[in-house]
Amino acid sequence: MSNSQNQKPAPHVALLPSSGMGHLTPFLRFAVSLAQHGVQITLITTHPTISLAESQTLSHFFSTFPHITPKQLNLLPLNNATCFNSEDPFYVKYEAIRLSSHLLKPLLSSLSPPLSALVTDMSLASTVIPVTQSLNLPNYILFTSSAQMLTLFVSFHATVGSKAPNNSDKTEDYFQTGLQSIPKSRIPPPLLSDTPNLLRTQIMENGKKMIQSDGILVNTFQTIEQDSLGALNDGKVVNGLPRVTAIGPFPPLGIERTQSVPWLDDQPDGSVLYVSFGSRTAMSREQIRELGDGLESSGCRFLWVVKEKKVDREDGGELGEVLGDGFMERVKERGLVVKNWVNQEEVMSHKAVGGFLSHCGWNSVSEAMWNGVPILAWPQHGDQKMNAFVVERIGMGLWAEAWEWGGGEVVVKGEEIAEKVGDIMGNELVKAKAKCVGEEARRAVGDGGGSKKGLMEVIEIWKKSF
Ligand code: UDP
Ligand code: UDP
Repeated sequence: MSNSQNQKPAPHVALLPSSGMGHLTPFLRFAVSLAQHGVQITLITTHPTISLAESQTLSHFFSTFPHITPKQLNLLPLNNATCFNSEDPFYVKYEAIRLSSHLLKPLLSSLSPPLSALVTDMSLASTVIPVTQSLNLPNYILFTSSAQMLTLFVSFHATVGSKAPNNSDKTEDYFQTGLQSIPKSRIPPPLLSDTPNLLRTQIMENGKKMIQSDGILVNTFQTIEQDSLGALNDGKVVNGLPRVTAIGPFPPLGIERTQSVPWLDDQPDGSVLYVSFGSRTAMSREQIRELGDGLESSGCRFLWVVKEKKVDREDGGELGEVLGDGFMERVKERGLVVKNWVNQEEVMSHKAVGGFLSHCGWNSVSEAMWNGVPILAWPQHGDQKMNAFVVERIGMGLWAEAWEWGGGEVVVKGEEIAEKVGDIMGNELVKAKAKCVGEEARRAVGDGGGSKKGLMEVIEIWKKSF
């Protein structure tokens, strides 16, 4: 065979993220990693974006990576927008993208060179797969949460209405997904609600349709989620699922648009608890005050990102007023509180950070794993209890399981928070385990690692179909 025959052309792959930083960030990391392996990438972004963080990140991203081609999909307005008034604005945005999915057909078929595949966010699966099917274009799903969550996601539609299995623990109700039982307390409440809601409808539809995708890629790795990955690939969750491939954790891009936090440089190694609930979780003022009390009485150093509104553009309250009189002054020797976007990738890798009080959005968990930072898990909504379960099971964190989902009537008291903060910051066992997980995470995506192999296999398939 001559050299020219050996040299396959670079496949061209389009990526379609969903809305919110938790979905955009893994797509950006994935795009860069594919491009590094010689894949030509078109990144389709949907407009308008809901958060300021997304629009700023995108413009920064495209100027940093000019070899990744941007393509814009302008969303149709939602005709019946008022019927979504009680819904989470991010779920409404998923719906807007889903209802505009047919606009993808001319966009995808006009791309040159022709595509080898489209990689779609899981929250868009049921409306995008018919489009790629009509174009005979392979469709891969990037699942941006844990494999544990994926087991629920793909089986929920089939198990709804099934009876809780007999279990020795009579106090808890279980949900059966294939061979696995998940405590109902861990399942996002809207899925168990009798009231129709977007989360439930979309997970039912997306989970069902995903069986028709050509492959499911997950931002996780074998060492931490072998059981779930094995069950998914052995047909123990649902039959006929395409291959599920672990390709994570995606390494950070190191190109954040915001400044780092110089205050951290003055703190002793491993002494600071970083407190953040991600990009789209609002906390009630009452709960914020209790959290403040807890952090203050824990005696621990902390960096705390406060959010009162789900959408960053609407989050205008003054910190002093939000936290109450004198709080900032009282803690100024050992605590920094901010209300703006922080460069979390950098915070997590800072040597002063020794713990993370987190809602367990999967990107936050992945970033903690990458940097070997122990987690105190306080899940607030969505997939976060499923992820907290993984965190605790692998030993890199503690889960305050008795604390309720966020946004409800029950407010967790400051004393309880202070106690758990003490438990995590002084825990040498968890610290050692988190360090090991960090090493395993880097091994997984390094040469010879399982996730690297998984990624290379997928790229080979795309090369062949090119
Ligand atoms: N993030 C950040 N700065 C902030 C808040 C969030 O850099 O002030 C990043 C964080 O590092 C992560 C993403 O935003 O990559 C949030 O995703 P995650 O899955 O953790 O939670 P979500 O925001 O979707 O609930
Ligand atoms: N999800 C979905 N449709 C929805 C809402 C959520 O498919 O209308 C999926 C979402 O992609 C994620 C899970 O359900 O896997 C949890 O949702 P959430 O958006 O709360 O998680 P996050 O974006 O913070 O990771």
